[in-house]
Amino acid sequence: MNSEQAAATSATGREPGLQLSCGYGTDRGLRRELNEDSFIASDPVFAVADGMGGHEAGEIASGICVRTLAGMPQLATGARTATAAVVQQYLVSADERIRTATGSRAGTTLAGVVLVEQMGVPYWLVVNIGDSRTYRLSQGEFVQVSVDHSEVQELVDAGEITKEQAAVHPRRHVVTRALGTGDETEADYWLLPVEEGDRIMVCSDGLNAELTDDHMFRILSTVGHPQDAVDALIQAALRSGGRDNVTVIVVDAKNVMNDAGTDTAPRPAVGAEDEDTLPRAQVDTTEVLDSTEVDTEELPEAPGMVQPADAPGSAEQAAADAAEPLQDPATDSEGRHDGLK
Ligand code: MG
Repeated sequence: MNSEQAAATSATGREPGLQLSCGYGTDRGLRRELNEDSFIASDPVFAVADGMGGHEAGEIASGICVRTLAGMPQLATGARTATAAVVQQYLVSADERIRTATGSRAGTTLAGVVLVEQMGVPYWLVVNIGDSRTYRLSQGEFVQVSVDHSEVQELVDAGEITKEQAAVHPRRHVVTRALGTGDETEADYWLLPVEEGDRIMVCSDGLNAELTDDHMFRILSTVGHPQDAVDALIQAALRSGGRDNVTVIVVDAKNVMNDAGTDTAPRPAVGAEDEDTLPRAQVDTTEVLDSTEVDTEELPEAPGMVQPADAPGSAEQAAADAAEPLQDPATDSEGRHDGLK
């Protein structure tokens, strides 16, 4: 076994408002010689990158991606001031750095959440490019939030194959967007209000390719501690075959109600008339931003690159790939690295 699961869960919340706790882990799996996944789990950024490319290039690409995100100033301050435009700036920078470092030979997916606030109300800013995934367990409902950028997802969307057929399709590993390679590098964004008891799971395809949604839901809804849930999910993926690198982050949100503080309206207690007590701006924000995709068409200039080492606290938590010796990449012949359209 080559587990590299984190030993402890980090409590990342701030007193006295919203409390986050997370668990995380990555495993090379049973078939691959390298672990080309990378991840970052440091409030307010929780994201997984799955590198693609021959030899060591995949892990270089995913590593550059998470280290670039680690340069976001919000990691140093814990501030929840990020926006989709800010995240996109860093992804553009990551894309450029990967192309420079690998000559566009390698790419990476990126999926996850950034905790942000809008008018004192906390939201999950979900980001995705490629086929790593973000799921949300909220109020007992388990939903895949991100939509894969993959050939099989396009076939599913076109009604040509079912989701079940996609899971075993020979071209299921071909992604249509990635950072560092290909022509399409724009990420998708969603903004979801944080609900009390929310559990977010971010994973590389080495998890969801091995486990059904029902299996993941069973574990996430029954295992209380986020680190225990991560460990159980990774072990289940290995028992199912472990054909790919598997990386999982689980983030729990508690004390959400108190996060807005005293300057914003409480949730309506009873009666529809209570809705009138909410400040209009807050109501409008919730209505507009709930589950909608954020337009990132017009972005300001990308900022100067911030070195990851300048982000205190990120070194321990922004875990990149394990220092595995370089091996023959022939074991990656299942197609995951065969590339992009
Ligand atoms: Mg993978």
